[in-house]
Amino acid sequence: MTVPSDVTGNSELTATHVLEFPGGYTRTTGPVIGRFLTELRDGRIVGVRTADQRTLVPPLEYDPHTGDAVTEEFVQVGPAGTVAEWVWVDSPRRNHPLDRPFAWATIKLDGADTALVHVVDAENPKAMRAGLRVRPRWRAERVGQITDIECFVPDVTKIVSPVRAEYTLKPGRALTRFLEGVRDGVFLAGHCATCDKVYVPYRLACPGCGSLIEEERQVADTGTITTFAINNLPDPRAPQVPFVSAYILLDGADTPMIALVGDVPAHEVRQGMRVRAVWVPESERTLAMSNIKWFAPTGEPDAELEN
Ligand SMILES: [Zn+2]
Repeated sequence: MTVPSDVTGNSELTATHVLEFPGGYTRTTGPVIGRFLTELRDGRIVGVRTADQRTLVPPLEYDPHTGDAVTEEFVQVGPAGTVAEWVWVDSPRRNHPLDRPFAWATIKLDGADTALVHVVDAENPKAMRAGLRVRPRWRAERVGQITDIECFVPDVTKIVSPVRAEYTLKPGRALTRFLEGVRDGVFLAGHCATCDKVYVPYRLACPGCGSLIEEERQVADTGTITTFAINNLPDPRAPQVPFVSAYILLDGADTPMIALVGDVPAHEVRQGMRVRAVWVPESERTLAMSNIKWFAPTGEPDAELEN
C-alpha cells in the first residue's frame, strides 16, 4: 500500500512515500527452503544434494548450474566454515543485524560446495581474512529464519594466559665448590695442567683444551679491572644508581670474573684500577655470590693492562 506521509507546499509540490507491509508479508517457503529453515530452528544447518552430488547451502530448488531440480537428499553441513570473501561495515545501519561494526562475508561451511552470505562478528577488519575459520552463534530463541544464526564468530585461536615461572637453579659441582670458597672468603680457581691456565670461577673441565681440571687453586681476592660498565638502571644486587659492573682479573687468575665495583664514584672507575673484594660479614654469608659485597679500590697504582 502507498501512503503519502509528508507533503510540503510552496510552488514545487513534493511528497515522500513509504512502502511497507506493517504486519509482515507471509509467503510459503516450498519444501526445500522450508526444510532448511526448520533445521535452523532446531540448531542445524543443512544443504541439499544436486543430481551431480554437489551440496548447495543454502539449499535451492533448482541447481543454478544445470537448471535441473535438486534431489531430495539433505545433508547436514558445518556448522563451522571458512570465510571466502568479506566486506567490512564500519557504521552499521539501523536495520543491520549487529549494532557494532561487523563484516558481511561469504562463508563456505564444511561439507558445502557453495557459500552462504552471513555476518561475521569480528573485533576489527584486521581480524578478517579469506580462509578465516568461523562458526555460528545461535540465538537462544529460534523461529526458523536465517537470523536464527545471530552471526558467525571467528574460531578461538589464541588466549591470554598469565605466565609465571618459578625454578630452582642447582649449581653444578664446580660452581658449588666455588661458592663454598666464597662463603669462606676465598676465591677457588681450577688449574689446567695441559694449558697451565688458571680459571676463575673454578671449573671441572678446561674451556681451552677440554682436559679434566684436577688441581684446585686458591687465588687472591685482589685484582685489576679489565673492562667495566656504568649502569644507570636500578638493579636489586647493586647498592645505588649509577653503579659499576666490571670484569676483574684476580691476581693469579688467567680469566676475569664479573663483579660490582663500589666505594668509589662511578666516573672514577677506570681500566687497570686495582681492587680488592669487600666481603659481607661472616655471619651473613650463604652459599651465594652475594657474599661479595663488591670490589673496592685498593689505592695502589694502576696496573699495566698488558700484564
Ligand atoms: Zn687446558
